[in-house]
Amino acid sequence: MPATLLDGKQVAQTLQMEIAAECATLFRERGVRPGLAAVLVGDNPASQVYVRNKRKACEKVGMTSWLHHLPADTTQEALLHLLKQLNHDPAVHGILVQLPLPKHIHEATIIHAVHPVKDIDGFTPENAGLLAVGEPRYIPCTPHGVQQLLLRSGIALEGKHVVIVGRSTIVGKSLALLLLRKAKGCNATVTVCHSATKDIASFTRQADIVVVAMGVAHFLKAEMVRPGAVVVDVGTNRLPDGRLAGDVDFDAVKEVASSLSPVPGGVGPMTITMLLFNTLEAARRQAR
Ligand code: NAP
Repeated sequence: MPATLLDGKQVAQTLQMEIAAECATLFRERGVRPGLAAVLVGDNPASQVYVRNKRKACEKVGMTSWLHHLPADTTQEALLHLLKQLNHDPAVHGILVQLPLPKHIHEATIIHAVHPVKDIDGFTPENAGLLAVGEPRYIPCTPHGVQQLLLRSGIALEGKHVVIVGRSTIVGKSLALLLLRKAKGCNATVTVCHSATKDIASFTRQADIVVVAMGVAHFLKAEMVRPGAVVVDVGTNRLPDGRLAGDVDFDAVKEVASSLSPVPGGVGPMTITMLLFNTLEAARRQAR
């Protein structure tokens, strides 16, 4: 029987309705409307689309959003100056710096300049450290989206063996830290594979849940998946013909997996939704 689809669009829609209701309550009870400042440097078309979608989602749930679109030749000093202003602006609860930044700007310096309480991506060393010690303030959006997509699709994580392919800070490594937490909705046994892992299939075949976050189109083949396992595809790859593809060989894997997330319509909508979740949380923290 073909796999059940893990419908990120549907789960994201439900979550966004919950977030909208909580935003309305926060405004009614405290007069606070969550505000997100998006910072975009240069004219990368994909980044422009991502930022536009994030802002649209903010407005849909009743948050305020501002776009600071700076030219590609903006200096690092000018960008740091803007972040300083946003860090001090009480209407701004969350700051999103869209990556990648132009080459002449040192990405880590910029990420570290965001105030940790406004760092709704969870990328600053302080927030990454809190996640590593099992007490997250803001869970990075894509890992959080993967976890919520599974839980809200009725797939428990406790005691499961989760094999993650990819160890970036944005996705793989943070997801491993999240699922390792001794906490409700986590508590999994986690294996992380990367480009130096020998025989990746020998690991993925042992998994109850496989999460692929590599950026290699169609990498995960049917024979790498144990029949009945759950597969989550984080990959977003643009094929030469312009179509979008995940890291999973979708047509083949859907014949062996019990549940599978599609691309598009799987993890993508969940990532945006968890950004809203973190912005709401940031507004609540700053309203205390
Ligand atoms: P990244 O920073 O490039 O990391 C890729 C990871 O995959 C690295 O750990 C790398 O290993 C590993 N890898 C690459 N090729 C491999 C191979 N042939 N065998 C084994 N491991 C391999 O990418 P990322 O930011 O994590 O993103 C991963 C994918 O997810 C991309 O397609 C990205 O567009 C997508 N993404 C989607 C969303 C969403 O919301 N849907 C959000 C974020 C990212 P090493 O560490 O050894 O180099």
